[in-house]
Amino acid sequence: MNAQATVESSGMTGAQHIELVERFAAHNYHPLPVVVAKADGVWVEDADGKKYMDMLAAYSAVNFGHCHPALIAAAKAQLDDVTLTSRAFHNDQLGPLCKELADLCGMEAVLPMNTGAEGVETAIKTARKWGYTKKGVAKDQAKIICCTENFHGRTTTIVSFSTDEQCRDGFGPFTPGFEIVEYGNIKALEDAIDDNTVAFLVEPIQGEAGIIVPPDGYLRDVRRVCTERNILFIADEIQSGLGRTGHTFACEHDGVKPDIYILGKALGGGIMPVSAVVSSRDIMSVFTPGDHGSTFGGNPLSAAVARKVVEILKTGKYQDNAKSNGEYLFGKLNSIKSDKVKEIRGRGLWVGIEFHPAAGVARDYCSRLMDLGMLCKDTHAQTMRLAPPLCITREEIDWAVERIAKVIT
Ligand SMILES: *Cc1c(COP(=O)(O)O)cnc(C)c1O
Repeated sequence: MNAQATVESSGMTGAQHIELVERFAAHNYHPLPVVVAKADGVWVEDADGKKYMDMLAAYSAVNFGHCHPALIAAAKAQLDDVTLTSRAFHNDQLGPLCKELADLCGMEAVLPMNTGAEGVETAIKTARKWGYTKKGVAKDQAKIICCTENFHGRTTTIVSFSTDEQCRDGFGPFTPGFEIVEYGNIKALEDAIDDNTVAFLVEPIQGEAGIIVPPDGYLRDVRRVCTERNILFIADEIQSGLGRTGHTFACEHDGVKPDIYILGKALGGGIMPVSAVVSSRDIMSVFTPGDHGSTFGGNPLSAAVARKVVEILKTGKYQDNAKSNGEYLFGKLNSIKSDKVKEIRGRGLWVGIEFHPAAGVARDYCSRLMDLGMLCKDTHAQTMRLAPPLCITREEIDWAVERIAKVIT
């Protein structure tokens, strides 16, 4: 069929949509063959009218559920007022967002961006400039320490310190100034720090690596070492933060506060790409006008939605649900007897189910779950990731676990 005619005709089937993507989109993803056309809470509906439970929540960008009424209302109200000013002028949403978000983080200053990768880039620039202007590191010598199996985004600088060969292959030359240490190993971090080290960039729980929870007390040790050695502790909470693990921030599990939070994903309420670097006034003071910026960063539409996200988080309702229903979900999953499963791990409503190599790849399990009406995604071949919207109920968890049990036993 002629593609143009297909686009213009109403009521395309899912298969037709997928064909268009195959023909006209870059093939940089390998999605499950489902075409979502509508969504509400934990449920989505495909172009052919079939319903699915969403157990991925757009990698935690939809923490509060699809089309949360208060978030949609905030966006709609802002659409009628003003949507974009650029930072050439002020807008009446940015100031309140920065105050409210800083308060939520127990911090003092916010630098708003759009995507998570931009937030990470911003944190890298913050740490480098802090190193030169506050710590006294010689020009262009700053070093940032990162972890094995990290995931911080896809820019050329960020893939420069990835340990995933596919992320890097074909994209060099790479940005210098990074060193890799083993995740969860505090001695490795201590040994890697030298006079030029300005920061340690770490995910409090590694999401893309397969929901890897570090040893108890690791983040507390990181906090201590960073303070003792005068380097910045940068927590990439883009995926782990904003409720997912049963706390507002995953760092709270170890009772620590980093020097810099990087936030994204859920900060945009599943509506807008909103990211932010949140820190102290002292650290943020390295920036002066013209140093850094973004045309869309801090735009009033994004800010209005993010303000509503912060307001929702302040109630603690989603964190509580992630904690209690997360425990419920883990209990249910752990009671399933399966010789295919190597490990079930995670925290809050964030679960990695790792399969034995002999049991096949996780994607096959995800495909079978899709046929049963449940959407989730594999990561790193052997691990299936569950990260439902944090509004999921126990009845819905029972529904999901019934299907998971069917495919893993
Ligand atoms: C998703 C993610 C990013 C990148 O965010 P984008 O919005 O996709 O650029 C960075 N860090 C972590 C921990 C993430 O999960």
